[in-house]
Order: sequence, then C-alpha cells, then structure tokens
Amino acid sequence: MSDIKCKLLVIGAGPGGYVCAIRAGQLGIDTIIVDRQPPGGTCLNVGCIPSKALIHAADVFHNIAHASDGNLGITVSAPELDLGKTIAWKDRIVQRLNEGVAGLLKKAKVQFIAGDARFVDGKTVTVQTDDGEKRFRAENVVIATGSASIELPFLPFGGDILSSTDALALSQVPKSMVVVGGGYIGLEIGTAFAKLGAKVTIVEATEQILPQYDSALTKPVAQRLKELGIEVQLNTKAQGYAKGLLQTDKGEIPADKVLVAVGRRPRTNSVGIEELSLSMDGAFIEVNSACQSSMRGIYAIGDVTGEPMLAHRAMAQGEMVAERLAGHKVSWDKRCIPAVCFTDPEIVTCGVLPGELENSKVAEFPFAANGRAMTTEREDGFVRVVARADDDAIMGIQAVGAGVSELSAVFSLAIEMGSTLQDIAATIHAHPTRSEGFQEAALSALGKSLHI
Ligand code: FAD
Ligand code: NAD
Repeated sequence: MSDIKCKLLVIGAGPGGYVCAIRAGQLGIDTIIVDRQPPGGTCLNVGCIPSKALIHAADVFHNIAHASDGNLGITVSAPELDLGKTIAWKDRIVQRLNEGVAGLLKKAKVQFIAGDARFVDGKTVTVQTDDGEKRFRAENVVIATGSASIELPFLPFGGDILSSTDALALSQVPKSMVVVGGGYIGLEIGTAFAKLGAKVTIVEATEQILPQYDSALTKPVAQRLKELGIEVQLNTKAQGYAKGLLQTDKGEIPADKVLVAVGRRPRTNSVGIEELSLSMDGAFIEVNSACQSSMRGIYAIGDVTGEPMLAHRAMAQGEMVAERLAGHKVSWDKRCIPAVCFTDPEIVTCGVLPGELENSKVAEFPFAANGRAMTTEREDGFVRVVARADDDAIMGIQAVGAGVSELSAVFSLAIEMGSTLQDIAATIHAHPTRSEGFQEAALSALGKSLHI
C-alpha cells in the first residue's frame, strides 16, 4: 500500500478541524480531513445545534401551554407534543448543516475521508475506511479530535442512564428526569425537558449551579428554575441508580431517566497519541499560544487542548493554525472568548468577572428598568460592566436575561476594540432594545445614569 501524501492532514471535522481545513484549502494548502462521523463534530451533530433546537421547541411549547396564565388576554387550550417529530425536525437541521459543511470543504478543494484515524508516527496516519485501511503521510498534522461525555463508573451510560447525546435523541418525554451536574449541559437540557412536561430534579455537587460564575449572575437562573418547578439539590453527589431511584449521599430520588452531565474529557485515546511523545497538560494535549504541540509539525486545537471547551474557540484556533501554515504572520491575539449559557434566562460572559481585576469600576443596569424587557414580560436579569479604574478601559462584560445571547457579539467587539466606558456611553443604542442596558451600565460606571 503506497502512502497518500499531503501538506496538511486534519484529524476530526468538528468546528476546530473543519474551519482549519476550509481556510487551509482556501489558502492553497493541499489538505485532507478525516472523521468517522458526518462533518460538523460534536457541536453540529450532538451538541450546540441539537440542544438549541430542543431548547427552542421547548420554549414554544411552554409559552403556548402557559399563554392563558399571563396578562396578555390570550386564551389557548393545552398544546400536544410529538417529541419524535420534534427530533426529526432537529435531525433535518443537522443534516442540512452536515451537507453545508461538506459543500464548503469541497469548494475549498479539501478531501474528506470518512473513517477512524490513528497515528503510526508523527508524520504517518492510518485511516480505517469502509474500503479498507488507507495510509497518509503529511508534512503537518492537526489533532482536532474534540471531547466526549465523562462517564461516572457508578452510572454507566446505557438504558435509563443518558449522556447528552442520548437525551437529545429521546422520542418521548420521560415522566421524571434527574440531571446529575448543574453545569452548562445539565441546565440547558434539564430546563428544556421541564418545559416539555418532565418532572426534573438537578443534583449538583457544589454549593451553586454553574459554579464558575458569581452568584449574582446565576441567581436569576436559579429563581426561574424554581418557577418552572425544577428542584435543585446542591451539595449533593450522585452515587448509583437502581429500580427507578437515583441514589445520592443525601437520599434517593425517583427517576425514569438520569442524564449525567458532569463535564467532558478530551478524546485522545482513540487516535493513538501514545505512538507520539507529546507533552500533556493533564489529560489535554499541551500546546503553545500558536496551538503547536511539543512535536514539530503536530498541532492541536479545540476541546482536546482544554478549557474553555467552546465551538467558537475551536474555530478561531483552527483558522489561526491554517493561516500560520500558509506563512501568514498571525498569532493568538484575542482579548476575550465570549461564553453563552443558553439557560432561561441566558447568561453571557466576556472578559474578566468582578473580583478578577484590582482597581476596577463595576456597575450594572437591571432589566427591570428597561422598556423592551417590560414589553416582552421578562424583566429579570441585568447587564454589568467591569472597567479599569485608572483609564476606564472595559475589561469585562456580563449579562443575564432573556435573549441576551445576541448581545454577546457587541460585548466581545467592545473588548476587542479596546472600548472605554465613554465609548459605550456615547454610542447611540436603538430604543427600545435590551442593548440599552449596556449603555446604561457604562453610564452608571461613570456616575451619569439616566434611566435609574
Ligand atoms: P468536536 O466537535 O468534538 O469534533 C471532533 C471530531 O473528531 C468528531 O467529529 C469525532 O468524530 C472526530 N474524531 C475523534 N477521534 C477521531 C479519530 N480517531 N479519527 C477520526 N475522527 C475522529 N459549545 C458552544 O460554543 N456553544 C454551545 O451552545 C454548545 N453547546 C453544547 C451542547 C452540548 C450538548 C455539548 C455536548 C457540547 C456543546 N458545546 C457548545 C461544546 C462544543 O460542542 C465543543 O466545544 C466543540 O464541538 C469542540 O469542537 P472540536 O472541533 O474541538 O471537537
Ligand atoms: P460543566 O463543567 O459545565 O458542569 C458539570 C457540573 O457537574 C459542575 O457544576 C460540577 O460541579 C458537577 N458535578 C461533577 N461531578 C458531579 C457529581 N458526581 N454529582 C453531581 N454533580 C457533579 O460540564 P457539562 O455541563 O457536562 O458541559 C461540558 C462542557 O461542554 C462545558 O464546560 C462547556 O465547555 C461545553 N458546553 C457549552 C455550552 C454552551 O456554550 N452553551 C453548552 C453545553 C456544553
């Protein structure tokens, strides 16, 4: 068998790998990308997109079911749900996007090989395809193999114990669901199932949901979970499951299904990295700011390199690596990586949190004083800015509130452009929008509040 030669071989066609391959192809680099799954990775196939589709369907169902409870003068009869049809709709979106990514790769003249890749040495990779084994010899290899759900030994996936992938493929809403882990996945998917009618309990090991954020940001989410009838058991650890009961260190909870969402681990075991002498950072592949590993010609991007495990970080890394391979003088110069938690209400964080910056000015504006928030019946939450006290440079922005995910771009832009409080305060923000909360938070930090 003769080796197939290329300048760049990308292993894994998730957001990191496929963006890297597309940009490399556009820049004239002879590129091959390998994945065992349809292109798009965790994010497109079983992550970002399927979860946001389910969250949307759950919101529509819940809003219709509760329309008569509100003050709008609307009366409706109870809606019915066929979750199988909802999941089929979600699958069609995923398929459209799979085809879209495949088309973009083709347009950039990148060859997609379906199969399992494994290193033989630092330049040689074998791929098990449906047509047998193929061998590739590449000048550069990018490892973009992503991450997988962490499995708890006492709650192995299978049957009623679900990973996020299993939960996003259910064809019926369970009567009761216990979610182990009050992080991103547990809260997003748990809230969706509660809105679809399941009795949901969240079991979280630490003293608050989303422990990486300050309690002011998570409080409106905790309040809403309560309103939705979701029970949250904090400082509680799951220990096992038997006869429809989840066992914890605090007692037993009835559960038709258990969703285990306690984090994700890098997918390094299936690719044969033990054949290489790569430096590791714990379980992750150690890379420098240019995503170079400890071996010449081997790069790693995305979840396999550690936190934050977010699709847009993987994409930005992939683009940078491709441009560097084409000889462009680019480096990792991002000032912030925004994070959005699609809970109800949503949380956005960009840059530093209060307390992470000495000599800071911190100010917030509550949506309870925002006209748009009132007209959409969701006044919970706020926008908060964190600025350097000496020159008013904005270093951090956070928001919690309905629909604030769409403010994440303006927050990132403000930080990337080095905006000051004065820049935001002097920018006309359209009325009535939630974005006015950003301007008002900046005005407040300057001691010039108008609407509060
Ligand atoms: P992945 O997307 O994991 O892709 C890696 C690819 O490599 C996979 O397709 C896999 O099949 C392939 N692969 C692995 N080993 C091999 C091998 N040996 N041979 C061939 N192919 C291989 N992030 C956000 O930013 N926003 C969100 O809203 C969001 N929601 C999420 C919801 C859920 C339920 C989950 C699970 C994750 C979510 N994430 C979200 C995280 C996001 O999915 C990841 O950060 C992102 O997919 C990482 O991209 P990646 O390219 O590093 O790896
Ligand atoms: P996570 O790290 O966000 O949350 C895991 C939670 O489980 C933590 O709060 C932790 O304290 C808790 N926990 C751990 N062991 C436990 C136990 N034995 N019993 C009870 N609780 C326990 O992890 P996740 O929710 O699985 O998500 C994984 C990653 O996927 C995230 O870190 C994020 O990077 C990515 N993701 C992002 C989005 C988004 O951007 N909107 C959405 C989903 C996932």
